[in-house]
Amino acid sequence: MALAKTYQNCNMERLNELVSKHPKQYADLLKLLVPIIIEYYGTEFEEVIYGTLSNLAIEEVSSQYPKLSSLHSKFEPDNLSSIDNGIDDVDDKTLDRAVGEYGSYPIISEGKSGYELDGEINFLAFKPFQNSSYGLSLFVHELLHAIKSSREQYRIVTDENNQQYLQDRCGLIYMLYELHTREDGTIERTLVKKINTGIEEGINTFDEVSIMNILLAIPLEQIPEELRYILEGKEHRPDPSGYKYLHDRAKELLSDKKIASLIRNVQLNGTGYIHLQEEFNKTIGSKTNAWQELTHNMDSVVSDVYEAFGFLGDAERIEKIIERMKEPKRKIQGIIKQLDQRKEKPGEKTSYEKE
Ligand SMILES: [Zn+2]
Repeated sequence: MALAKTYQNCNMERLNELVSKHPKQYADLLKLLVPIIIEYYGTEFEEVIYGTLSNLAIEEVSSQYPKLSSLHSKFEPDNLSSIDNGIDDVDDKTLDRAVGEYGSYPIISEGKSGYELDGEINFLAFKPFQNSSYGLSLFVHELLHAIKSSREQYRIVTDENNQQYLQDRCGLIYMLYELHTREDGTIERTLVKKINTGIEEGINTFDEVSIMNILLAIPLEQIPEELRYILEGKEHRPDPSGYKYLHDRAKELLSDKKIASLIRNVQLNGTGYIHLQEEFNKTIGSKTNAWQELTHNMDSVVSDVYEAFGFLGDAERIEKIIERMKEPKRKIQGIIKQLDQRKEKPGEKTSYEKE
């Protein structure tokens, strides 16, 4: 039986060369997944995807490892220290329940004219997940976060008071850090702003589920022979779980082809965020900033989801959180409905083509 088209079309030689840098079990996973990921996002993003792989450390963490978050310090540059001031919505408890995650650190130094960016460290850290039916899907999810942080991730930005900040981008998520040099010369970064976690997690989960469904629909005999063992006799499943609501809204958003392509450009190329926002507002005829209202309410939902994870088993507390989520959910659905009503009808030219 011939290989599935996805694998026939992929430049396996190039892929083999790239994955040869990774430990065997991860090299095989990448060989299985990357052709599908390229097909899913489109060949125009092939370079971003390969670029990510050549710049990513993949590390297996012992299952006895007490805290996934403490693994981070292993990758953290010596002269950097990260201060958590409670803004980050993912707390240690949520993180430690996960089987793995994508992480990244900037390499910063202080030059004569201020802070300078010298490089970055990107990694995937995973506990063994062969026995979990959701493990492969979670690996896809984290790999996609890495791919969507590949270009234009870190920037040193300066405000009107000449104060420098570090900006960190992961897909549509933007984080802003204050930088401060301690007496001992180490650089302290403190998170002061984070936006778009809700919309990004919704879209990333939608992508994860879509990619898993493509993979699982390919008959085993059409998968390259040496990779079949990953799927054979196992029941792999995608698991949107806590992100189910945001996943469903992301699916509706991406059904607008113009908005979807603008979103992909920001996520994968790291450019055009202001343009996306303007086009979104223009499309739904919003005089206020509907994009900001949408993403802000999705952030509110995601932080409630994270909070609920911390109170599993406490029915009363969960009930309160669910009640609190109703209003932001109503606003999100209202905006998406507006987008749906303004959607260009088939046959009508998009504003892109008109220009
Ligand atoms: Zn995620």
